[in-house]
Amino acid sequence: MIKCPRCRTESSDIKKEWKYATFKVKKYYCKKCEKSFNAYFHGEELSFRLPK
Ligand SMILES: [Zn+2]
Repeated sequence: MIKCPRCRTESSDIKKEWKYATFKVKKYYCKKCEKSFNAYFHGEELSFRLPK
């Protein structure tokens, strides 16, 4: 579960996963905003979130 950077609603709806440099990027979808955002992980640790 990860919080949406816009509304802070927790989402576990992963649409896509890929690697970016040393990061693992997961694309989440927020049902409340009806928008997706990317979460960047370093290992298992969340580094930052980007609204997309
Ligand atoms: Zn949201």
